[in-house]
Amino acid sequence: MQHVPCREGKISAFASINVCSRFREKTVNYIILDLEWNQSSTGQEPEVATLPFEIIEIGAIKLNHERIMVSEFSQLIRPTVYHRMHRITSKLIHMRMEELERGKPFTQVVEDFLRWCGEDYIFCTWGPLDLTELQRNLRYYGMEPLSRGPIAFLDVQKLFSIAYEDRKSRRALEWAVDYLEIEKDIPFHRAFSDAYYTAKVLAAIRDLEVLKNVSYDVFNPPSCREEEVKVQFDTYFKYISRIFPDKTAALADREVSSSKCYLCRRNLRKKVKWFTPNGRHYYCVAFCEKHGYLKCKARIHKTEDGQVYVVKTSRFISPEDVEKLTERRDHARKLHNHSRKPSEKASDKAARLKGHIS
Ligand SMILES: [Zn+2]
Repeated sequence: MQHVPCREGKISAFASINVCSRFREKTVNYIILDLEWNQSSTGQEPEVATLPFEIIEIGAIKLNHERIMVSEFSQLIRPTVYHRMHRITSKLIHMRMEELERGKPFTQVVEDFLRWCGEDYIFCTWGPLDLTELQRNLRYYGMEPLSRGPIAFLDVQKLFSIAYEDRKSRRALEWAVDYLEIEKDIPFHRAFSDAYYTAKVLAAIRDLEVLKNVSYDVFNPPSCREEEVKVQFDTYFKYISRIFPDKTAALADREVSSSKCYLCRRNLRKKVKWFTPNGRHYYCVAFCEKHGYLKCKARIHKTEDGQVYVVKTSRFISPEDVEKLTERRDHARKLHNHSRKPSEKASDKAARLKGHIS
């Protein structure tokens, strides 16, 4: 078992860019994590707003850099918030409250778990939820956060789709296990067993390129420029901005509104200026002499305290796709103009002239 001097020392292993580069060096372990949580059983116990899902079990598998199982972790957690089992939880995981009351306190289990994780690792989960709920529970108990900014992790459910399906579909874990003909030697729907099968699915992915498709948990969005995420994938580029006080400030930011070619780093002229069909997603198209049409998509995310951050992806598209997007813009504009007063249109135009997203 490796010991970690302090949480601060570990952040470097978590920090998005570092994880990526270390990950490529193939020296990291994979920590496949699965949590079970309980929630307010409606009508019997009031929901605690800061902890809608109380973690009651942590199961994890450690794979070394060659994806060979080297260690396991399994621990029940004694609940402090919800003392009745929600009917979905009890049905799904076949666990009784009496069993849980014999578990250890959350803070102790998490300390043990993080010590067990060691130093150089990347978290892997089935689907995108577990790291968010883990961090929400850490915050509820006043524990140090896992990271100041976003955390890079592998969403094995997504990787399975990239490796074996259409990149977009999301299957249940048991479906993937059946598909890969993995032996079902322990029952599903307990934290440890789901971590175990997720690890088996991850280990079964032969194409190492697939493992480069890291995801980001943005429970803690970047609070400053240094924590922003900029990462290049095979077919697109992803940027996660720092927090802005509101949407207007975010959209006025130079980095957010820019359309840079991620291959040659040049700032490109826009062929289709920023537009939004719904007020949440924004699109633009720029043209690079060397690499062609680049579509940027920006999505505004609200933080829990009402601020915003932006996730922008850029990818190259065909002239036909540019055509389609132009039609979409014209359609959005028509709808928009129908429903607005002339004075609003004038201020809109002023904003566009300043070159900001409008
Ligand atoms: Zn270019």
